[in-house]
Amino acid sequence: MKFDFLIVGSGLFGATISCILKAKGKKCFMIDKRSHIGGNVYTESINGINVHKYGAHIFHTSNRLVWEFVNSFVEFNRYTNSPVANFKGKLYNLPFNMNTFYQMWGVTTPKQAAEIIALQKKESGVANPKNLEEQAISLIGKDIYYTLIKNYTEKQWGRKATELPAFIIKRLPVRFTFDNNYFNDRYQGVPIGGYTKLVERMLDGIEVRLNSDYFEDLDYYNSISDKIIYTGEIDRFFNYCFGHLEYRTVHFETQLLYGVENYQGNSVVNYTDAETPYTRIIEHKHFEFGKQPDTVISKEYSKEWKLGDEPYYPVNNDKNSKLYFRYKELAEKQDKVIFGGRLAEYKYYDMHQVIEKALMMADFLL
Ligand code: FAD
Repeated sequence: MKFDFLIVGSGLFGATISCILKAKGKKCFMIDKRSHIGGNVYTESINGINVHKYGAHIFHTSNRLVWEFVNSFVEFNRYTNSPVANFKGKLYNLPFNMNTFYQMWGVTTPKQAAEIIALQKKESGVANPKNLEEQAISLIGKDIYYTLIKNYTEKQWGRKATELPAFIIKRLPVRFTFDNNYFNDRYQGVPIGGYTKLVERMLDGIEVRLNSDYFEDLDYYNSISDKIIYTGEIDRFFNYCFGHLEYRTVHFETQLLYGVENYQGNSVVNYTDAETPYTRIIEHKHFEFGKQPDTVISKEYSKEWKLGDEPYYPVNNDKNSKLYFRYKELAEKQDKVIFGGRLAEYKYYDMHQVIEKALMMADFLL
């Protein structure tokens, strides 16, 4: 065997685990079927602006070790995620906080806001929410639900809120302070110079072969290493023998706007009305406080996934969960292959969670 480990996939799971294994003297070889490293956190420079090609990525964690780990490769800026919602031309701050309540009802104190929410919850009369709509109204009342939740969620999932399970929004971030910071985590930011730079540094000294699909040369790839770390789709690994796992996908319409210095004044603006076909507009330069003379924006359209599309969000309903567990049983019987990351575990992971899992896996393997 030429290598100790073959790593299939150069996303954050693959990059984290291979960088630790390499540091401990293991010989690693990485392949990726895409033409670039980084998986979904890949950023590409367009007119000096780091564009988040597979959707906006904001790093946040309360795990000091994970934060120190990523900062050991590249410095992170102080970016704070404070999205804005646009409902028929009127703007609201997110997550739901005193600024939102002031914009919605003109209230200026937490007591006034809490009273309106309590009244609307009571008026809803929902005791046992049976779907997402009932769940949301019972948590936050009808005004916020109809203005900021309903249409956005329906566009995101391509289904009526009354047909979506209540568990999707078991909790809603609600704050009775004037605080627009979306995340509650202790650490937050974006790598200065983009995520690609972060992953490049993680992979320093590791041989990486791009445009190489594991399944296109299976025998060869299986023959070159003792162990394989596989971060691709789990159902693909087993040749879809039990059927396909389902995803939601996102279509990005990216435009370079020449001579426009500042298009929307914020990196993330959600469109919460039903008529606007996209869910949000991302203005990439604001992730790094860019001062370039032009700007790049991406409109995000949430779509039903079909084979060949990018698999973005797992659809964790009963059918898919059962299917995943059948694949997981097969995966556990493989002694040469280790499955990790969002596609191999069919789980929505944030970046810090994927890194945490990969660090734990590396420890276990060593
Ligand atoms: P991936 O990044 O998908 O990497 C897997 C890699 O494996 C890919 O490069 C793929 O090409 C390769 N591969 C697959 N199959 C094969 C094969 N057969 N042969 C060779 N290579 C293969 N997280 C946050 O913390 N904050 C955010 O703001 C945030 N925003 C997000 C926005 C969107 C739209 C999405 C979809 C996710 C977001 N995330 C965010 C989550 C984040 O993207 C993931 O946690 C992270 O990228 C997962 O890394 P991974 O290595 O598991 O998977």
